[in-house]
Amino acid sequence: MSNPSLLILPGDGIGPEVMDQVVRVIDWFGAKRDMPFDVSTDLVGGAAYDAHGTPLHDDTMAKALQVDAVLLGAVGGPKYDDLDFSVKPERGLLRLRKEMDLFSNLRPAQCFDALADFSSLKKDIVAGLDIMIVRELTSGVYFGEPRGIFEEGNERVGINTQRYTEGEIERAARSAFDLAMKRSKKLCSMEKANVMESGILWREVVTRVGQDYPEVELSHMYADNGAMQLVRAPKQFDVIVTDNLFGDILSDCAAMLTGSLGMLPSASLGAPMENGRARAMYEPVHGSAPDIAGQGKANPIACMLSFAMALRYSFDHGDEATRLENAIEKVLADGARTADLMGPEGGTALSTTEMGDVILAA
Ligand code: ATP
Ligand code: MG
Repeated sequence: MSNPSLLILPGDGIGPEVMDQVVRVIDWFGAKRDMPFDVSTDLVGGAAYDAHGTPLHDDTMAKALQVDAVLLGAVGGPKYDDLDFSVKPERGLLRLRKEMDLFSNLRPAQCFDALADFSSLKKDIVAGLDIMIVRELTSGVYFGEPRGIFEEGNERVGINTQRYTEGEIERAARSAFDLAMKRSKKLCSMEKANVMESGILWREVVTRVGQDYPEVELSHMYADNGAMQLVRAPKQFDVIVTDNLFGDILSDCAAMLTGSLGMLPSASLGAPMENGRARAMYEPVHGSAPDIAGQGKANPIACMLSFAMALRYSFDHGDEATRLENAIEKVLADGARTADLMGPEGGTALSTTEMGDVILAA
């Protein structure tokens, strides 16, 4: 059997800096746990534009469609602000998402005890928080037709259309149920079935899919109530599944329950490939952080946690994912902090590489 394959796209800004620490972890698994990966590395975003005049070369796109998983750092930066829209670094990312058909976006919001003070909420509300929001990523109101700004009588009207097919709802729901099965078998679906037809269909299809997962405890909630519950008592949830628009808002809201952008991973999953696994891309939630790029002080944890998600969801190494997450939790509990995690009381911040050192040691 061939080794699991991984395409690494470090990208721009702090992308390559944080990705270096992940590569050390991958090497560690190969050497110490006899878990070799076939890793190839390529360019994306501004780095690809500089080399090829396009933010994603066709060869890179072809490679992304062949591997078991893609791990991406970040794209963009002020250097590329004036580029034509068609070659902007972000277009490289969008092309990957589109051609890999990544319809299910997984955003965990996990609060490490040692960082609970960073939350915008009281410590006891968030300590130990570990939830996952599954957002449908390729349909809904951001894509539905008709859309546009039209003349209507003597004024203009802006129109977007919330549109979901049963198939689109079903595949997103299925990915959420699969995930719930790997976690605590509790799923909450959020829509506005009280005022939206797409919400009625959403609830109906999710309920139907749920019949294939009798072990999963399914509940439904209107998304506005869901937003309130997320900040009131977030620990009542485990997996939440919702549409593109509500998911956009709810996942950012959940993210800030946990504190720093430098801590948040994500996964985007698509349809099953020939080997039965979902096509997948993993990336930290943060961007290229131009303000600190090149200074060696970026927090590598979001990118490392993204690789942990890859271990769990693409490579069936949930135990090793937990090993990596536990190492991160331990160093944080021991007081290891990059600059973004320093409270007002100060202290000595670790560099990106030093944070990698202590995590590897743990
Ligand atoms: P982009 O357009 O690429 O998303 P952005 O301007 O939105 O860039 P982000 O990269 O999202 O910026 O970062 C927002 C802020 O958070 C910046 O001040 C950045 O320095 C900080 N930040 C983001 N990621 C990290 C990290 N991994 N470690 C430390 N600080 C970070
Ligand atoms: Mg950003």
